[in-house]
Amino acid sequence: MTTATAPVPASAPKISQTQMLIDGEWRDSLSGATFATINPATEQRIAEVAAGDAADIDLAVAAARKAFESGDWPKMDARDRGKLMNRLADLIEQHLEELAVLETFDNGKPITDSRTADLPLVVDCLRYYAGWADKLEGKTIPIRGNYFCYTRHEPVGVAGQIIPWNFPLLMAAWKWGPALATGCTVVMKPAEQTPLSVLRMAELAMEAGYPKGVINIVPGYGETAGAALVKHPNVDKIAFTGEYKTAQIIMREAADTLKRLTFELGGKSPNIIFADADLDAAVEGAYIGLYLNQGQCCCAGSRLLVDESIHDDFVERMVAKAQQRKVGDPFDPSTEQGPQVDKTQFEKIMGYIDVGKKQGAKCLVGGDRAADTGYFVQPTIFDGVTDEMDIAKDEIFGPVMQIMKFKDVDEVIERGNNTFYGLAAAVWTKDVAKAHRLAAALRAGTIWVNCYDVFDAAAPFGGFKMSGQGRELGEYALRNYTEIKTVTVNLED
Ligand code: ADP
Repeated sequence: MTTATAPVPASAPKISQTQMLIDGEWRDSLSGATFATINPATEQRIAEVAAGDAADIDLAVAAARKAFESGDWPKMDARDRGKLMNRLADLIEQHLEELAVLETFDNGKPITDSRTADLPLVVDCLRYYAGWADKLEGKTIPIRGNYFCYTRHEPVGVAGQIIPWNFPLLMAAWKWGPALATGCTVVMKPAEQTPLSVLRMAELAMEAGYPKGVINIVPGYGETAGAALVKHPNVDKIAFTGEYKTAQIIMREAADTLKRLTFELGGKSPNIIFADADLDAAVEGAYIGLYLNQGQCCCAGSRLLVDESIHDDFVERMVAKAQQRKVGDPFDPSTEQGPQVDKTQFEKIMGYIDVGKKQGAKCLVGGDRAADTGYFVQPTIFDGVTDEMDIAKDEIFGPVMQIMKFKDVDEVIERGNNTFYGLAAAVWTKDVAKAHRLAAALRAGTIWVNCYDVFDAAAPFGGFKMSGQGRELGEYALRNYTEIKTVTVNLED
């Protein structure tokens, strides 16, 4: 493992926006409060950002409501909504480097990832949903009697969107895409750790020509700005990505107004490697599946279940790879792993590493911080992990791999499903029948066979059980943002 002793300080990117966007205007919070956003590689403050609370949310919701009910947005042809989305996608592509730098600066993810994964996926997602804007078709329904009955798929209204810090721009695109394509208006609260790139993307949306009030951004904390959005009676729907514990709070708080809710939450995804797998591919897939984005992926393959007959070979190869992983300055294009997003996450991960050691798992590589400054954690592998250990059950959200052995198919299905999460799972085997059997038996929203972390804007993503509710991406996500209206016309004279 190449460890960072001191991250090379990146030259500060231009930060064009730290205010909130309400009704097409950039403004300070009504209280004047701000919060600091921190560079996780240096622990230095990057900027002070307007901190919204209930009063700002009130203004933003009023703007979104007005834009939804009157003005240019509801009158706009569906095809023109699509054009606006494509224009925004074009602008993002033109500013790709600037946005990638901002993302890396605020989040700590390697610049190569921002450039080649996050930003291209953002552009692709917006273009995909641009294509849906004029394809939201209802049905004609042959009911009894002399009636003409049809359905209209109408926008749900004002969508409150609360996003996390692990893929700030991409999470915004996943939520803006279906909301804007269907004709909703949006009040978004970015994560307090990473507000900068979304604010810049919102500037580009204004440049693209979105009518005022269609996209509103209120940065701030979850307990203040986020909670106010959830409770607001003029918000029709909340789309949330984050921890299941926060989703539980949101569900309770949203009960009074019976809001439509969709959640994309955490996971403890089983990645199952059979003895008949292509071992090189499985090692590579398991490595990416866990370490991608510093392990800060809700679908991370953090329970690695390896057939006992290939266990030693597999572990040896995985240890070699983890030792080679280049950790350090996220602005160095050869860096593979940057810092964790903040001190809280860093301390949580270090705590789990400690627990893993205390509960008897064998730490084969890593197990410590990777630099004196910055929230860097060494790529870590625990072997000899048993199902009862905390590190086998809890979502760690860091570069910490748990390896467990299994003997047969029935056992691995049962153990794979032995979690209250159900976001993703992967299976590595050359046996087609076995692959499909597991794909059916594993209770998770996404099953990857002989691959991991394959995402596409057209493929739905979301969780079974405590990993979520509803699906993002693909055609399915449009349902989250539409109400079905049934129209029945009497055809009698
Ligand atoms: P994490 O621990 O990974 O930051 P959270 O679920 O706490 O995950 O945060 C995800 C998003 O939810 C962030 O934008 C955060 O500000 C927001 N949030 C946190 N608590 C609440 C809450 N009580 N109500 C609404 N939003 C919240």
